[in-house]
Amino acid sequence: VTMSKTRESVKVVVRCRPMNEKERAANFERVVQVDVKLGQVAVRNPRGAAAHEHPKVFTFDSVYDWNSKQVDLYDETFRPLVDSVLLGFNGTIFAYGQTGTGKTYTMEGVRNDPERRGVIPNSFEHVFTHISRSQNQQYLVRASYLEIYQEEIRDLLSKDQSRRLELKERPDTGVYVKDLSSFVTKSVREIEHVMNVGNQNRSVGSTNMNEHSSRSHAIFVITIECSELGVDGENHIRVGKLNLVDLAGSERQTKTGAQGERLKEATKINLSLSALGNVISALVDGRSTHIPYRDSKLTRLLQDSLGGNAHTVMVANIGPASYNVEETLTTLRYSNRAK
Ligand code: ADP
Ligand code: MG
Repeated sequence: VTMSKTRESVKVVVRCRPMNEKERAANFERVVQVDVKLGQVAVRNPRGAAAHEHPKVFTFDSVYDWNSKQVDLYDETFRPLVDSVLLGFNGTIFAYGQTGTGKTYTMEGVRNDPERRGVIPNSFEHVFTHISRSQNQQYLVRASYLEIYQEEIRDLLSKDQSRRLELKERPDTGVYVKDLSSFVTKSVREIEHVMNVGNQNRSVGSTNMNEHSSRSHAIFVITIECSELGVDGENHIRVGKLNLVDLAGSERQTKTGAQGERLKEATKINLSLSALGNVISALVDGRSTHIPYRDSKLTRLLQDSLGGNAHTVMVANIGPASYNVEETLTTLRYSNRAK
């Protein structure tokens, strides 16, 4: 029973973005095929390169092609997870993939465009709509926003952006980030404001924002406390936590020639992504008695929201064009193993 429960509580889906202007202009070949009905992604070799080989086919819980809308992903894949958080469970949504494949598009999307809003703003709307309709419950929503860069934790909502925070562990509450700020938010506007402040801080101190965001993990945390008067006349409190994670780019960081700081940094980025892969595949496997949470800051931090009663969705983002075929295959193998 526990095995199938674990299986169901970790979902891996693939999303392939459309060709962009540049790729269309350069007439790149599309090597990715998506079968939405069967939940399959097929990748064939670009023309010339062992083109006679069969395409490589991978199966996932769901797959989304370049025509997929943000609302499709939300309603089918994210909404049930957020509903479970409103019931008091923990949940985590990851966007995984090579830089430029749509992780931030999936998580944040295009602000001020309701159709292209990502899961983060859509979850804000969902949570506060739910709260406004509830009659017998009282809710308290808090938001935190942090970043892991080179295995160091930065509070994106703190006034002091040079400070690094530590992970601590308590027998009663488990692993937590010491001194992490959290803000009570009472509306979509308020929680959006918190997100904007964090995003601004994220770019502070980085000369190249794109490079920085492709090398760090951003984690937006919404904690939802619900109190309700029970039939026993007592107040009952449930707490659910939703972690929304825009992961560092999965591209190989240890390119030839990387040395010194660059090499050290590269090793650390790969470390937390491979630790995450190991944790998720151990959870999915269901037979592992040891889940290697302790191997990275990311997995330690999310320990109470991965496995157990928690729900997890990993979105593996890929691009369709031939020149990315190796990274695309690497992403699909990683996520398939996670499955
Ligand atoms: P990443 O965060 O993985 O580096 P981005 O989310 O920044 O990638 O996406 C790269 C570019 O592709 C952006 O301009 C983004 O708007 C666009 N894009 C990504 N996914 C989609 C999609 N599903 N539909 C339309 N545009 C997309
Ligand atoms: Mg990004």
